[in-house]
Amino acid sequence: MLSKPDETSARKQTAQAIGLLHRAALPDRHHLGWALLWLIAAAFLEVLGPIAGKALIDEHLLPRHLDWPRMATLLAAVLLTGWIASGLRYLQLVRLSGLAMRSVQRLREQVYGHVLRLPMAFFDRAIIGQLVSRVTNDTEAVKTLYVQVLFVMLDSTIVLVGTMIAMAWLDWRLMLIVLALLPAVLLIVWLYQRWSAPAVTRARQLRSEINGQMAESIGGMPVLQANNAEARFAARFGKTNAEHYTQRLAEIRANAWLLRPALDMLNVILLGAVIFAFGQREMSAAEVGILYAFISYIARVIEPLIQITMQFSQLQQSVVATARVSALLDEPVADEHSAAAGVQHASPGATSPGARADVPAVSIRHLSFAYNTEQTVLHELSLDIPQGGFFGIVGHTGSGKSTLLSLMLRYYPVQHGSIAILGEALAGIPNARFRGEVGLVPQDPFLLAASARENIDMGRGLSDADIEAAARAAHAHGFIAALEHGYATELGEGGSRLSSGQKQLIAIARALAGKPRILLLDEATSRIDSQTEQVVQTALDELRGRVTIIAIAHRLSTIRDADRIVVLNHGRIAEAGAHDQLMQIEGGLYQRLYLLQQLAV
Ligand code: ATP
Ligand code: MG
Repeated sequence: MLSKPDETSARKQTAQAIGLLHRAALPDRHHLGWALLWLIAAAFLEVLGPIAGKALIDEHLLPRHLDWPRMATLLAAVLLTGWIASGLRYLQLVRLSGLAMRSVQRLREQVYGHVLRLPMAFFDRAIIGQLVSRVTNDTEAVKTLYVQVLFVMLDSTIVLVGTMIAMAWLDWRLMLIVLALLPAVLLIVWLYQRWSAPAVTRARQLRSEINGQMAESIGGMPVLQANNAEARFAARFGKTNAEHYTQRLAEIRANAWLLRPALDMLNVILLGAVIFAFGQREMSAAEVGILYAFISYIARVIEPLIQITMQFSQLQQSVVATARVSALLDEPVADEHSAAAGVQHASPGATSPGARADVPAVSIRHLSFAYNTEQTVLHELSLDIPQGGFFGIVGHTGSGKSTLLSLMLRYYPVQHGSIAILGEALAGIPNARFRGEVGLVPQDPFLLAASARENIDMGRGLSDADIEAAARAAHAHGFIAALEHGYATELGEGGSRLSSGQKQLIAIARALAGKPRILLLDEATSRIDSQTEQVVQTALDELRGRVTIIAIAHRLSTIRDADRIVVLNHGRIAEAGAHDQLMQIEGGLYQRLYLLQQLAV
């Protein structure tokens, strides 16, 4: 599950990470090949340099054997190997970074595209901040894994092995002295792991917590300020922030102690040991070049070791992050139709092949549903909604009205029983057609930070005429036209420029613009005044006969004129009938609700 990545075993995470790396890099594998080639060539040249230097010293300078052309060649070899190696490293880095960046780009698109198709049940348990961090931060981990971790490690290992081989070839006894100190290096690496890895992990968690707190506070700012909670939130934030600082400091201490100073000291010990061993031996002066070569090599042995150590905690982090991305990509999407349909749009008003005038718009049989096993929300509902009718659903808070709509909208799979739309089983309708046939005005009108026009269009590419027609039908045209730039007016994040009622009218226009055959309204009149409610009622009346309207309403005046009203009570149908019929039921639920509302007015 998304929010608990730590539960998966390390081995599984590694397998997931490798799988994802493989997938992300596959299209660019020739770049990977080139980067590897440059890397190996550079490492080879770097190992070669000191050997040429040694030959120059031992064969020419010390014995005063001044063969100028050969000496010039050797000197050139010392210099050129270094330069060419630098050039090759540049080429390698450019290739590799390009590859890594493209992988991140591709992966991010893939992850976002995947998230767009996940079933609604996924979002019930997802934490928004974490999801955002999957798409932004965790995908970056792939780049880190490539450029910083895998290649630096590979590079360091190649240089290390090459250097050891060169040392053994020059003087295997001196090489053994260098080798003997390797356990000390391993000890430092181990200590570093013990010390810094937990701090690194914790610091990361805290950083995502900081992001989460920030996002939550901004989202809930009106509630937060209204409850005078600024100081409490600031204190909570300060605590998290302070702990983050402490953990980061621990990490930096580990780095500062173990990486440079400890390993640099080893460097000095190694140099001393080699010089000492060299001095102990009966050596001809002609072998001073070996000392030069060894001193050059020792610096090169230490550096890769530092690099490898530094990459270890990074590696762990990247694997975890990459595995999280992989786990997200493994979340099954809503259904195969939506996957196959991709970004296609339904042609507005597309007719379903099986839709005949005599089949119900919606036919529900023995429908039971539970979000989780403890509590069944809908019990054995059976219901037929005729085409072109106006159908009302009422009931207490929590009686399952929105849940019923969610099931009709395929946000959740039907668990028991069946729903058919225009004669077709719900699950079998291709997504593009389904979304064209069924429109929704949700309980919380959701507006994009975009223009009024874009908010009605929702990326469907509708014509201006269609958009205006929909706005007129929803009686939203008047106030949109009165905005300073008309339909082009930016509505601000979440439509903050509009009143709640206006947002609802926009949401109605948006649903109508898709020319649906079935229109679902969840509390479309809950936020508007009685006068605007009249407007919505008129709008709905005008649609009668052409569109099947299914409206949930707390305000019974909205659905008073409905052909048929269903009263839900704890997920069961308690009463059904037209307003007048329901009012006849003495002591009935509907009658009580209605009388209560009359009193309240
Ligand atoms: P209201 O009039 O307040 O909008 P409603 O009739 O629309 O109420 P539903 O939203 O359908 O009620 O909720 C029915 C029951 O299902 C409630 O007990 C609610 O707690 C539960 N519920 C709703 N959504 C979820 C969800 N995403 N996950 C788990 N339980 C849920
Ligand atoms: Mg509801």
